[in-house]
Amino acid sequence: MEFTISELEREPIDFDVELAPGEVDLGDEAAQQGALAASGHAEVLHEHRGPKDVVADIRLRGRFAGRFQVPCARCVEPVEIPLTAEYDLIFRPAAADAEATERSITAPETEIGYYQGESLALEDVLREQVLLSLPLRTLCKPDCKGLCPRCGADRNSQPCTCDAGPADPRWEALADLGSRMESTENSPKKS
Ligand SMILES: [Zn+2]
Ligand SMILES: [Zn+2]
Repeated sequence: MEFTISELEREPIDFDVELAPGEVDLGDEAAQQGALAASGHAEVLHEHRGPKDVVADIRLRGRFAGRFQVPCARCVEPVEIPLTAEYDLIFRPAAADAEATERSITAPETEIGYYQGESLALEDVLREQVLLSLPLRTLCKPDCKGLCPRCGADRNSQPCTCDAGPADPRWEALADLGSRMESTENSPKKS
C-alpha cells in the first residue's frame, strides 16, 4: 500500500489492511505467520522552513499485530513471537535534506525517516517497525543447550560426547550466527 503526497494533500487516509506473509520483506531475520494486521492514519504535515520553502512531510500513526517466527539464538529452532506495537512516525522527502548537512533537529523530531520520490510504502514502514519490535535475542527456552560447535548436534535432544578435538568450522559459523546477539552478555562457556 502506497501513500502518495498528491493523495494525502487532498485528504488524510485511514487504513485498515491485512498483509499476507511475504508482502513485508523481513529478510532472514523473521518469518511472518499468518496475516499481519495494520491500521492507522496517514496525513501531510507542512514544514515551513522559509517563505517559499515548504516541505511536505508524511505523518503515519497506527498499530500492527502479527505472529512471527525467529530462530532460537542458541539452537536455531524456530520460536513463535506474537507482536503488537504502535507507531507515530514522520517521513520527510529524501531530497529535502539532501543539501542541508546539519539541520537543527528538535527533540520531537527524533523519529524522522525519509521517503523517496512522491510516495511512502506502508510495507517498508512495517518492515522496520516489526524488526525493531522483535526481541534482540530469542531463546526457545531459558536453559536451551544450543548446538554442539563440533558435530552440530542439537544438545537439547542428543547427548553429545565430543568434548575434545578441533572444531568443525562449518558448525562454528552456525554457532556464531546463533550467538551473535549474545556478545554483550556473558557468552556460554565452551568446554
Ligand atoms: Zn534453543
Ligand atoms: Zn558434538
